[in-house]
Amino acid sequence: MGSEKAEIRPEELEAFLDEALPAPRMREIEEALRRDRNLAEQLRAIIQRRDLGLVSIAEVWRRQRLSCPSRDTLGAYLLGALPPDEARFVRIHLERIGCRYCLANLADLQSRMEATQEQKEAAQRRCQRYFRSSLHHLTHSAEP
Ligand SMILES: [Zn+2]
Repeated sequence: MGSEKAEIRPEELEAFLDEALPAPRMREIEEALRRDRNLAEQLRAIIQRRDLGLVSIAEVWRRQRLSCPSRDTLGAYLLGALPPDEARFVRIHLERIGCRYCLANLADLQSRMEATQEQKEAAQRRCQRYFRSSLHHLTHSAEP
């Protein structure tokens, strides 16, 4: 007890691989890895697991969050205006990864689009009504 510095937990090794730790801690772990074969073994296991694609949910979340499509891209996706590759990426991101952030974004875009569409349709109906009534006027006022 007490002979070792702060114990290095598996999560820290993960973060170490992601270079997500403060610089002093990165150096400590680097040193520890040189001294401690067990620790080095642990790190190797993590790398192997990552290579196999067996990553934790939290990790997937973290990685995918970095590759979230932009709002513009999501908008284009809704309109079906994305190239097939990009559309596939977005679909996987939304459906397989189930990114909550992007799903919320998408729902928001969708409701806005629907609102705009409704406005457009209402305007169209107004136009038609107006057109019909003025047509009515014209045809009727042309009569003697
Ligand atoms: Zn996302």
